[in-house]
Amino acid sequence: MNEFSIIEKFFKKQAALNSTVIKGIGDDCALLSPPSGQALAVSTDTLVAGVHFFHDTPPQAIGHKSLAVNLSDLAAMGATPAWATLSLTLPHYDKKWLASFCKGFFSLAHAHGLSLVGGDLTHGPLSITIQVIGFVPAKQALARDRAQDGDFIYVSGPLGDAKAALAISENHLSTSLKNQSALMKKLHYPVPKIELGLALRGYAHAAIDISDGLIGDLGHILKASAVGATLFVEQIPLSATLKKIISLEKARRWALEGGDDYELCFTAKKTAALQKIAKQYSCVPIGRIESKKGLRICNDQGQRLSIPNQSYRHF
Ligand code: ADP
Ligand code: MG
Repeated sequence: MNEFSIIEKFFKKQAALNSTVIKGIGDDCALLSPPSGQALAVSTDTLVAGVHFFHDTPPQAIGHKSLAVNLSDLAAMGATPAWATLSLTLPHYDKKWLASFCKGFFSLAHAHGLSLVGGDLTHGPLSITIQVIGFVPAKQALARDRAQDGDFIYVSGPLGDAKAALAISENHLSTSLKNQSALMKKLHYPVPKIELGLALRGYAHAAIDISDGLIGDLGHILKASAVGATLFVEQIPLSATLKKIISLEKARRWALEGGDDYELCFTAKKTAALQKIAKQYSCVPIGRIESKKGLRICNDQGQRLSIPNQSYRHF
């Protein structure tokens, strides 16, 4: 099987082109036709075996997650997914591996009307680079730099589960098979919050997706917006599974520090319209934006807790 037949067999057939694609896979470039009046939202992320996932991760999960983390960036910007390119570096040709990877990748791509318009295929240590491109009216994009004093800080779902799954994979935590599989699902099959991102256009002032940990990622909003915040740690949503298997104190810590959950964190005025969106998408207020710089973490009595930032960093 040469690389051209691999591209044809596994990728071109499922590319799911639509009228915005003038030319997809097969030429030197893709030719794309963006709708007028919309800005392009462009993002890329790389997943490397042994760094972002374990060597024994199911290929279907790798296919899903490598696209999901990219779509999560579009969600955090309030963009509609449109196109993707996929650069794959594979150690060898493995038909079963590729079929399973494609199952994960394309079921998520098709669910969001995303067309695969090109990519690259090379030989080497397993690594996946995806670029996604979406559409958003420039003025409605959810940037990081527009949080305002008095905004409520919301999060779109429970945090800390992916960190628990990682702890299980690394044999630092043991629990029942049922709990394990619930947590592994959160780590391997994160759900990009595309619909929520679209609903927040015109309502949220600032947004980010939580890939490296709440403290670190909220920190990016605070820095970009030149504001500070108080987080009420007891308000942060935790899954029933997480609360069952570790102490509440540890669960809250993991929710603050753990990466890989891919929930959205956004800031907004608590208007009736916003509360309706929050209810519809199970978003919970967990703090306030303040003009005083820095991040303060408190319990519900307003006592400050000291928690160092342990968010994930590559370097
Ligand atoms: P070139 O040598 O001109 O860069 P390639 O041989 O890398 O072309 O790719 C041929 C065509 O197949 C191009 O249109 C490219 O975008 C597409 N392609 C290559 N790899 C992939 C992939 N993994 N997924 C989707 N499209 C791919
Ligand atoms: Mg190429």
